Amino acid sequence: MALVDRGAQHGGLRHLPSVDRLLGGEAAVGWLAVYPRALVVEEIRAAVEQMRRAIAAGERENGHPPQTAALEAEIAAEVSRRLERQSRASLRRVINATGVILHTNLGRAPLSSNALEAIAATAGGYTNLEYDLEAGRRGKRDVHASAVLEKLLGAPAVVVNNNAAAIFLVLNELGAGGEVIVSRGELIEIGDGFRIPDILGKSGSRLHEVGTTNRTRIEDYRAAIGEETRLLLRVHPSNFRIVGFTARPSLEELVALARETGLPLVEDLGSGCLYDFRSLGLADEPPVTASLAAGVDVVTFSGDKLLGGPQAGLIAGREDLIGRVRRNPLFRALRADKLAYAALEATLRDYVLERWDQIPVLRMARQTAEEIRGRAERFAEALGSDFPAQVELIAGESVLGGGSTPGQGLPTTLLAIAPAGEMTVGQIEEGLRRGDPAVVARVEDERLLLDLRTVLAGTEEEQLRLALRAALRAQRAGAGAGGAAAR
Ligand SMILES: *Cc1c(COP(=O)(O)O)cnc(C)c1O
Repeated sequence: MALVDRGAQHGGLRHLPSVDRLLGGEAAVGWLAVYPRALVVEEIRAAVEQMRRAIAAGERENGHPPQTAALEAEIAAEVSRRLERQSRASLRRVINATGVILHTNLGRAPLSSNALEAIAATAGGYTNLEYDLEAGRRGKRDVHASAVLEKLLGAPAVVVNNNAAAIFLVLNELGAGGEVIVSRGELIEIGDGFRIPDILGKSGSRLHEVGTTNRTRIEDYRAAIGEETRLLLRVHPSNFRIVGFTARPSLEELVALARETGLPLVEDLGSGCLYDFRSLGLADEPPVTASLAAGVDVVTFSGDKLLGGPQAGLIAGREDLIGRVRRNPLFRALRADKLAYAALEATLRDYVLERWDQIPVLRMARQTAEEIRGRAERFAEALGSDFPAQVELIAGESVLGGGSTPGQGLPTTLLAIAPAGEMTVGQIEEGLRRGDPAVVARVEDERLLLDLRTVLAGTEEEQLRLALRAALRAQRAGAGAGGAAAR
């Protein structure tokens, strides 16, 4: 038995075409017209090697040793696939049909058209990023966003790479060498291993935990204050909620204690919204201005969560403290890039002008249940009567996501798609996910659920319809061929 197999394998290997043979073949003419020769040679080598291994491992049919021509065609197809992959971007556009507005895995906030225009208008050329055009001398990149931020917040502000960097920088400047007091109920992990206690340790400050997981009182903070205390830290528990027997001092109590002891009160707001989401019935996301007005000394928040802008970390508050943060050498290491400044300034300008619906995150969140229902009805209708699956409109919930307002949703209408015939919902989901553009959707109870709240009205809806048809067609073709999809 073993001898027979080995013989068959050797037979297969003997028929393996050489790299040179493939390079001189017909297919190579097309490859070389598009791709550099070195890349073509590299991919041919890799494809031949892949085939050699498959034969040696007995993964291929060896009963009737394949002929060189057949093997060659197969390897050529693999070379074509590999070359195409080289020109296909890894970071691609995805249609988010999950209804999670700030999907961390899908890049959080989509940018507004004004933000995109600002990037397009500046990034391809030179800019006055650090040049004062009025005075004709070196300027600072901060000025581009800080003016509009100060207008919105009524306090000085600076921008860094993201909110994690913002917290790190603030703790390093204000807490290094001493203790930072935090409630045990706020020692959170944001996701991807970002934990408040770890960032605190790396910042050079020491954590002084107070209270318990579910209850912390203002007296706990007071009792913990000593010689070594540098600041009081409050962290917005953005991605979870502790319910039941709980207590947390009010912001006013903490501000009063900070004033009394002369310690700065720093608040990590997480999402930090500049729009009042409470008007949409979402109670857990207080506006940044509310914290500053209450007397918090320094707030930090993200640019690409509810604010709806680019990845950035914003630090705002008391002038002397923001000045110190700005002068910390780590500010340079954590600075935001020019694309972020361009997009952030444009996004913030829409806030100043109250053009809420210009900002995709706000537009999606503000869309009413009736509007979404209307879109879903029109979408279902446009799928046509020959659409090869069962479509039903059902009530559901969209969420803000991105670690905000846990447990609170926005009413929506979902398109529930049940496959007909032999297809499984998993196959449709996979087809959509691996398509171009890729579509990410929810699956529940053997149905595919699409929430149009997070699908951009217009172009993306049309693309989604085409993608659905393609996914259903592909599965039928796959089923017809005995499900013989090779890879
Ligand atoms: C999201 C979040 C962070 C991290 O912000 P990034 O901008 O992702 O770095 C920190 N703290 C809280 C409370 C958050 O919700």
